[in-house]
Order: sequence, then C-alpha cells, then structure tokens
Amino acid sequence: MWLRIELPTGGVFLKTASEVASLLIEIGQRLELAGDSPFKARAYYKAAESLRTLPASLEAIVSSGKLRDVPGVGEAIAEKIIKLQQTGTHPTLEHLREQVPAGVLEILRVPGLGPKKAALLYETLKIGSLDELEAACQTGRLRSCKGFSERREAKILEAIAFLRGGAGKCLLSKAEAILLATRTALEASQPDWDKILPAGSVRRACELPDDLRLVAQTAKPSAWEKTPWKINKFQEAEVWAVPAEYYGLALLFATGSQSHLSQLAAHAAGRGLRLNEKGLWREGKALLCRTEEEIYAAMGLPFITPELREGRGEIELAMRSALPKYIQTADLRGVLHCHTTFSDGLQSLSDMARAAQAAGYQYLGVADHSQTAAYAGGMREEKVLEQFQAAARLNKAAKQNFRIFKGIESDIGLDGSLDYPEPLLNEFDFIIASIHSRFELDKEAQTRRVLNAVSRPQTTILGHPTGRLLLQREGYALDLEAVLQACARHGVVVELNANPQRLDLDWRWHKRALELGCLLSINPDAHAAGEMAYMEYGLKIARKGGVPPERVLNCMSLQEIAQYFAQRKKLVASG
Ligand SMILES: [Zn+2]
Ligand SMILES: [Zn+2]
Repeated sequence: MWLRIELPTGGVFLKTASEVASLLIEIGQRLELAGDSPFKARAYYKAAESLRTLPASLEAIVSSGKLRDVPGVGEAIAEKIIKLQQTGTHPTLEHLREQVPAGVLEILRVPGLGPKKAALLYETLKIGSLDELEAACQTGRLRSCKGFSERREAKILEAIAFLRGGAGKCLLSKAEAILLATRTALEASQPDWDKILPAGSVRRACELPDDLRLVAQTAKPSAWEKTPWKINKFQEAEVWAVPAEYYGLALLFATGSQSHLSQLAAHAAGRGLRLNEKGLWREGKALLCRTEEEIYAAMGLPFITPELREGRGEIELAMRSALPKYIQTADLRGVLHCHTTFSDGLQSLSDMARAAQAAGYQYLGVADHSQTAAYAGGMREEKVLEQFQAAARLNKAAKQNFRIFKGIESDIGLDGSLDYPEPLLNEFDFIIASIHSRFELDKEAQTRRVLNAVSRPQTTILGHPTGRLLLQREGYALDLEAVLQACARHGVVVELNANPQRLDLDWRWHKRALELGCLLSINPDAHAAGEMAYMEYGLKIARKGGVPPERVLNCMSLQEIAQYFAQRKKLVASG
C-alpha cells in the first residue's frame, strides 16, 4: 500500500543541513574545550540553529548564492559550511579533533560539567568518555580531582543514568523544527507530493518525541510495496508516501500510539468491522480511508484529537461524547509569567507589552524574579517600585482593551516563605511562587516547603510545579497529590509552564488536577518576546492532558481576570 520511492539524496557526497549543523556544534564545543572564547563558540551554535530551520534545502540555498543571508552566517562560517557540506569535514575541525577524543563531548551533556571541567577531567584523570566518567565516579576516583566531592560523584552518576534514559529522544520543539524543515525540503524537491504532515509522537505532542515521522500524499503510485510498513528515510525523518485513498489510514497509523491503535481495532471488532494497516472493512468490503474523520466516523466515533491518542480512556470518552473541549490559540486571552530587563529578560517591559498586544492578547502579566534570585537579576524593593511606575505609565497610555498586571515570580524560601515583606507583597496584582533553589531536599521536606508556600494567602499561582528540565534534570522529589490538593483547597492556580524544556505540570497529572478543582494557567515563562510563542506548546500539552478552556486562568477575558485578581486580594485583606 505504501510506496517505496527513491528519494533525492542531494548529490552523492553532499551533507544535509542538519548534518552540517551537528558538525558546526562540534566545532563550537571543541573550541570551548580548547579554552577558546565562548563568543567564538556561540557564533557556531547560532549558525547551527539557523541551519536546522532553513526554509529550503541547504543545497538549494548554497547554489542560489543565498547562504550569507542565513542568520548568523558570516564569511568565515559560510566557508566552513560549504566545505563541511562538500567533504563532511574541515581542516579546523580535524585540527581540533586531534586534541581531545570524541567521548569528551558526551561528558558535556552532564549538567554542571561545562567545557572547563570536562577539559580538566581529561587532562588530569584522562577521562575521555561517559563510560569512563561513570567508572571514575563508581570507584571514587573523581574526588581526587579539585572541585569534586563524594556527593558530586553521586550526583553525576544520577545524571548519567538520566541521560541514558533519554537516549534517542529530543525536545518536542526540536523534533517539530526538524520535521518542518524536512517538509519544506520535500515540498521543494517533490512537487507532486501533497499534504505533507508531521505524524508520530510529534503530532501527539509527546514532550519527548521518540520518532520523526511525516506522511505525504502522492498522486503517482509507482512501485507498490508488499509490506505496507517499508518506510522511506529523508534526512532524519521517516516519510510515509501514500495515495489519496489511503491517506487517512496512513496518517492514523503513523500517528499512533500503539495502544490507541490496538484499542481502536478492538472497538472496530466490537462493531463488526476490521481495522488494520491495510484498511478498514465491513463484511469483507473496504470502507473509505481518505481521512481520519472518515475512519473514526465509520466506527461510530467523533474525531479524536491526536494529542489524546495515548490509550488512556479516550475511546470510551469519545463513545460517550465526553471528549474534553478542544483548547486553541483563540481561547487564550492573555499572557502571564513574562520576564523583562528588570530581571533576566532580554526585552523591556514596553517591548513585551507591545509583543503581547501584537499577538492579540488583552493583558500581559509581568513576573520578573524576586530579590533572592540574585543569580537571575532578582529585583530589590526599589526596582519593584520602579517597575510598578513603568507599568502604571504604560497602562495609562494603553487603550482600554489592554493592561499590564503587576506580578512577581517570588522565590520560595527554605521554609516556604515568599520574598519581600508583606506590605510590598500585597501591592502585586498576582504572585507566582516558584522553587529555584535547594532542589535536593527529600520528598517530605520539599513537599512541606511547597505546601507552606501554597498556603500563603498572597500566592496566586504555583510556578513550574516540579521544576523538571526535560533531558537535563528530573523534577524535585514531591508528593504531587498533596500539592495539588493544597492548591485546590487554597484556590492557588497550577502553572502549565509552556517552555518546551519544562512542560510542567506534566500532562499525566492534568486530569487529577481538574478532578480536584484546580485551575491551570498556560504560561510561556518568556525571557524574550519571541518566547511568547511557547504558548503553542502549552496548548498542545493542555490538549494532551484534556484541559478545557474554562479551566484555564488566562482564558479569562481582561475584565474577568482583573476581577479574579481583585477578589483574591480581598481575601488577603480580610485575612
Ligand atoms: Zn522560574
Ligand atoms: Zn520565570
């Protein structure tokens, strides 16, 4: 059913944009290991990032003479890109490769081990790979090196185990960017292909996709495959090319998940149908499979949004017409949890306000870091007052239909206290309480700390509830059930931090949070205007968790949320 198509490889020896990007990153990392300026390395990282999201194939860009128009590509880097593309290497890279083995680059993935430390470990202990690092920690050899303790060894061992668990996975944002770039390249090279769509775990909005898959409709079936699952490779992605009459079927099977598909097949069987990779039949007669909608409808089901297809009860909900309401961009009315140059953000308050308005939001909730977060430019009291004035000025100048809410991302102290004395705390429109320190506390102590913070009347939102950083760090030990119960009891909103590195609260907990009565807030935690786009990841994850718009704080209109904040403050005043 699926076609095996010889895909263009772009000339036999030419490297693809994403292969060249990996080599640029290697040059940058090796420069850092060699003690070169981090600025120089950063130029390579920036160019690599641009290459990963090119609007056309690298070959097309080079041959049209447009390489220098790519952001971050100056003369020197352009020369390297062309050489890397043509030969797969460059004299600079070869020279750097002579200095340290490739295994040292793996060590850079361990949190806390930057180029300086990795170079030190290689020079002093000859540790040249992740395996050697692991062995050195297990035998206690690492602590002989300056700056490493027994506790540090244990931490590194944990981190290595975590990295190994994440092997073969990448962030949703990265996987999506790769697929979109592949799609663009395919559209350019295969003019008779149509409806090229991401499928697999990216379409299901898994926070760590483990496949890169596209489905494409082709009008020209040529060589038919006996086994439908022979899949073509193009760059890093699998491409399923399929004629129009089976497009829906291919999309359904390429999207998965396995357990959704097997439950769907069982559901079909219960209705006298047969569903498998070759089609959908009733009494031996093939039914239409052009769209997924047709397939679901033939089984007596409404369309099930891809994010929900995890085999966690969605088919039963669909049967009862009880699927959660689909939350989308237009439902979001405002954007909370944004940083500015008042702490560690890259843009001014007025720039962020302008960006929020341009994105169609009715309000911006600024939430810079509080004073304890000195590492992130946390604001001292004078600075908070200065920001209040700036916000007031901008609000005065703004039209009726836009407003800045004065918030703060307050560090949670070791005892669960919030930053700043109470009179100042009471001046904020809303307060996000977040943990940014002492991640290592045991479960009991950490839970007690968060419960204390949630029980403060000033706390409006619990920020990134588990503190996880995907592929880097597990969340802190926490009794999440107890925390969500407390949020419900105290009327504290639970953040769905939409930064693709966090996506925290994990979607697997959304249903429980809703059952308990919690509201969620989809927040970008933006440190630049461009990062407001993270809201799209928040929406995908909210859909995955089954969160409807009416349970999301920032789906409230400007009037509604102003009233909501005012009411919370009245509660504080009345003690
Ligand atoms: Zn934070
Ligand atoms: Zn933040």
